Amino acid sequence: MLIHNAYPTEHYRALDAAHHLHPFSDARSLNAGGVRVIVKGEGVWLTDSDGNRILDGMSGLWCVNIGHGRPEIAEAVQKQMAEISYYNTFFKTTHPPAVELAALIAEVTPEGFNRVFFCGSGSEANDTVLRMVRTYWATLGKPDKQVIIARRNAYHGSTVAGASLGGMAPMHAQGGLPIPGIRHIGQPYWFDEGGELTPAEFGLRAARELEAAIDEIGEDKVAAFIAEPIQGAGGVIIPPDTYWPEVARICRERDILFVSDEVICGFGRLGSWFGAERFGLKPDLMPVAKGLSSGYLPIGGVLVSDKVAGVIEDTGEFNHGFTYSAHPVCAAAAIANLKILRDEKLVERVRDDIGPYLRERWLKLADHTLVGEARMTGLMGALELVPAKPSHQRFVGDGSIGLRCREHSFRNGLVMRHVHDTMVIAPPFVLTHEEADELIRLAALTLDMTHADLRRDGVM
Ligand code: PMP
Repeated sequence: MLIHNAYPTEHYRALDAAHHLHPFSDARSLNAGGVRVIVKGEGVWLTDSDGNRILDGMSGLWCVNIGHGRPEIAEAVQKQMAEISYYNTFFKTTHPPAVELAALIAEVTPEGFNRVFFCGSGSEANDTVLRMVRTYWATLGKPDKQVIIARRNAYHGSTVAGASLGGMAPMHAQGGLPIPGIRHIGQPYWFDEGGELTPAEFGLRAARELEAAIDEIGEDKVAAFIAEPIQGAGGVIIPPDTYWPEVARICRERDILFVSDEVICGFGRLGSWFGAERFGLKPDLMPVAKGLSSGYLPIGGVLVSDKVAGVIEDTGEFNHGFTYSAHPVCAAAAIANLKILRDEKLVERVRDDIGPYLRERWLKLADHTLVGEARMTGLMGALELVPAKPSHQRFVGDGSIGLRCREHSFRNGLVMRHVHDTMVIAPPFVLTHEEADELIRLAALTLDMTHADLRRDGVM
């Protein structure tokens, strides 16, 4: 078999261990085990340096929505490189890819969204959000409206502002976070935290934590509420149906901004162009990244509603920006990506075809002894691994069952991610029915193997 790399796996492993510090990794244990080396991607398939084919059930890191290896993106990038590979957008200048991308984004965003502020990633987008919402209120003569309300177990990035807005305790524990002016409320995670309440009751209770927090802090001090339509990195947490309408009511009645973090949900993941639309929400700002370029090159942005853009225009100079804001080559990749999504109707495909097809089969995995709940919206799904059914009891420990399950999954040829003992998937939108069947077969096999392990070890 043709292996698209120049050196044997061991060569890469040794150099990687010697020189590369990985994100969100325990360097010592990673290097003891050795990293997996991915050398090629085509559609939903990855190839590693040993020639194994692996179904990419996570679209890379929730981003390769159009699938790997599309030549149109490579061509657009090459063409742009030849024209002008870099210029800034700071000093009364712009360039064609920045303009064309901004206009194309305005075509697919909901009514009332016509402006975008570009940056390089989702984290930078949320840093921009923090400064923009506070600047918005200061410009309106309300500089005391500073506090941003976010949620526990949310993920909004790894920069100082992003990690502070996020509600990940292990991230806060390193580096003295969160920064002041951020309040975290509970998350709508019924499976873990619903107790005796029905999902509908719990959804309302979780939403009303927002109301209580605003009232306690004082509406005159709260700038915004930020949330992912479906929490991704937290474990694909799909809120009960009652949650978002109640949050929308609270945001309508209070004078605060609503920020829908669309870094994962944006550009089609839930079968609508933006996750907020899927839940009937009307945000004021939408940070985006990942799906904007399907991860082919790094680019992010904050989609700014006319309401906020008008005020930011009154601010005078907004002292914020990045060398790579609207990087021409990244913008060219994003334009080609959005055209593929639009012209091949991939968002509609998630909504009407592959989304429902995979969901029907994924939900049946709830019949497995090891699975306490299976859920999926659009192409974002999760399985809750439990020691006994039908209770919501968890395995004792720190999520190592999920890790074991993930290891089996990789070995079986399917990328699933684990968040503690929750298994998650978010496959590319181009997944075919046959590939969806294969994904389900491999997931079921993985559950069987994990279950067999646990029985052998006396855990179940
Ligand atoms: N927001 C959300 C909802 C995310 O899922 C992520 C990344 N997983 C980010 C922000 C941060 O994006 P990035 O990693 O591009 O900085």
